[in-house]
Amino acid sequence: MPASTNDPNLRSFIETTPDSHFPIQNLPYGVFEHPRFHEAHIGAAIGEQILDLTILEAKGCFNQSPLKDRRLFSHPTLNTLMAAGRPIWTAARQTISELLRHDNPRLRDDADLLNEVLLPMASVKMRLPVEIGDYTDFYASKEHAVNVGAMFRGKENALMPNWLWMPIGYHGRASSVVVSGTDIRRPLGQTKPDDADTPVFGPCRLMDFELEMGFFTGPGNKHGHPIPIEKSSEYIFGMVLVNDWSARDIQKWEYQPLGPFLSKNLGTSISPWVVTLDALEPFRCAGPKQEPEPLPYLRSPGDYAYDITLEVHLRGENMDQPARICQSNFKYMYWNICQQLAHHTITGCNIRPGDMMASGTISGPTPDSYGSMLELAWRGTKPLTIAPGETRKFLQDHDMVMMSGWCLGDGYRIGFGEVRGAILPALKG
Ligand code: MN
Repeated sequence: MPASTNDPNLRSFIETTPDSHFPIQNLPYGVFEHPRFHEAHIGAAIGEQILDLTILEAKGCFNQSPLKDRRLFSHPTLNTLMAAGRPIWTAARQTISELLRHDNPRLRDDADLLNEVLLPMASVKMRLPVEIGDYTDFYASKEHAVNVGAMFRGKENALMPNWLWMPIGYHGRASSVVVSGTDIRRPLGQTKPDDADTPVFGPCRLMDFELEMGFFTGPGNKHGHPIPIEKSSEYIFGMVLVNDWSARDIQKWEYQPLGPFLSKNLGTSISPWVVTLDALEPFRCAGPKQEPEPLPYLRSPGDYAYDITLEVHLRGENMDQPARICQSNFKYMYWNICQQLAHHTITGCNIRPGDMMASGTISGPTPDSYGSMLELAWRGTKPLTIAPGETRKFLQDHDMVMMSGWCLGDGYRIGFGEVRGAILPALKG
């Protein structure tokens, strides 16, 4: 009987520290470029290194059933792996875990092979890991919806009447999803000052981030065939950190009646490592109690919240150190990922391997756990002091926003690394 890939006692011959995001229990997948080869390769993160799965596959390390001839890793994206389904995901994870175990000599004692397939993270450039066909953004944090609703409609009308009955969402823009490290240009657009009769054109003045997490879908469903909620976790491959950049002043003028459009399509940043649901399994937990009870098609078959600590740091161009401005947890989400996927497909809408679905801004119960500047500085009415002489209502040019997240195990972490991006000044209007 092979050891569980989640066993806290598993050790790799590649040493990792207890606060590393990438111990042998994690093994997230990413896509990277290296000067040694032309095409991007697929890798698994282990400590500060990357295990090159593209080369290992070419050398026959995934030749046993049921992985034989599948060519999961001979592509510059994870879409083929995502399409393969959970039994294959689990077998691939088992094989990688065994290759890295401290008591397995196959890789450990082959210095030539190790030199070829183990690369320092610092020597590679991470790429967008997935060719994302469609991107959907939910609005699934009750605290966030209540905060924003209270700001714009007053406390009594904070939640729209539909909110407690379904995971609200909108169809986003996949083409402008970018990998961590990509700078984001402050957008130009139409806004209408409250005291003006007509809109003005110019740079966004209320630039914001949104702390979110996203999941990638695995095998798709046929058009016309909803994914039932009790099977929905079989269609979810893994998760990343998401910063869903937002232009609040553009949003305010454009969003009625159809919802956000240009205020959200300027860019969405994701972390480069996709952490699998298999790795996250020990950190599943109960979510908030749902009252009223959801309709039958949205009733979860079990606990599908995840205990993932989240942090946001901000560094202005005159700051030496980033300052932490938010500390939160993914488990605060009211609607879980299975409910989101079941709701998304109940009409028969088909999803495809590598579609991305983001949670919407994650806000917790306390002011220091709010997941956007809009809430942290309460629509600009409570400027946030982030360092001596540095206050913010919204983001300034050259501000760097960094988000990080991890699950805390007994003596180890299952981490997501980070997603970062800086705001560039607007183009001349
Ligand atoms: Mn969003």
